[in-house]
Amino acid sequence: MSTSQYHRKRNLAKSGEPGLDGLSRDSGKSPIFVIQKHDASTLHYDFRLEVDGVLKSWAVPKGPSTDPSEKRLAIEVEDHPLDYAQFEGTIPEGEYGAGTVLIWDRGTYQNLTDKDGGIRPMDKALAAGHVLVRLDGEKLRGGYALQRIDDDKGQWLLVKMDDDAADARRNPVSTEPDSVASDRSLDDIAADESPDR
Ligand code: MN
Repeated sequence: MSTSQYHRKRNLAKSGEPGLDGLSRDSGKSPIFVIQKHDASTLHYDFRLEVDGVLKSWAVPKGPSTDPSEKRLAIEVEDHPLDYAQFEGTIPEGEYGAGTVLIWDRGTYQNLTDKDGGIRPMDKALAAGHVLVRLDGEKLRGGYALQRIDDDKGQWLLVKMDDDAADARRNPVSTEPDSVASDRSLDDIAADESPDR
């Protein structure tokens, strides 16, 4: 796992995004997840899971659902450094991914991917194109499946598992739009960073 592709795409001095790979975290701790709402050329939600010292990442155009009958397209993107999980702010015009980033949800996760009655490690589960995780976030909880549907295009589906946290009526993407880190909206964050403020 490497963030070389992340670095190739960006000028971090200009973008203001995190650069250094984080120190490897205490292996006894639960791995983290973060979902960043990103108002780029098209609004999307970046779903990121900590795996082996980086954030494995997918862009989810419609965002995650709490309804098990909703399958959300998730497009694989480059690994991001662990520090990216703390990033909230505005990537300037002209830089890669220009637009405002908001920490929409965060927490820890547990790998539940089954393999012959045991747990298949995350790297192997990702390579096999099927991952099951239990999220313990501020907005999202419970099981989510990631299923690869097209290897060449890096397309996956993100689907809520039918468990206690499933709720077909909840729709947090529209009813809980703001940051869990700062309570700010996308507009608040954009205004806070505007040079003519
Ligand atoms: Mn993005």
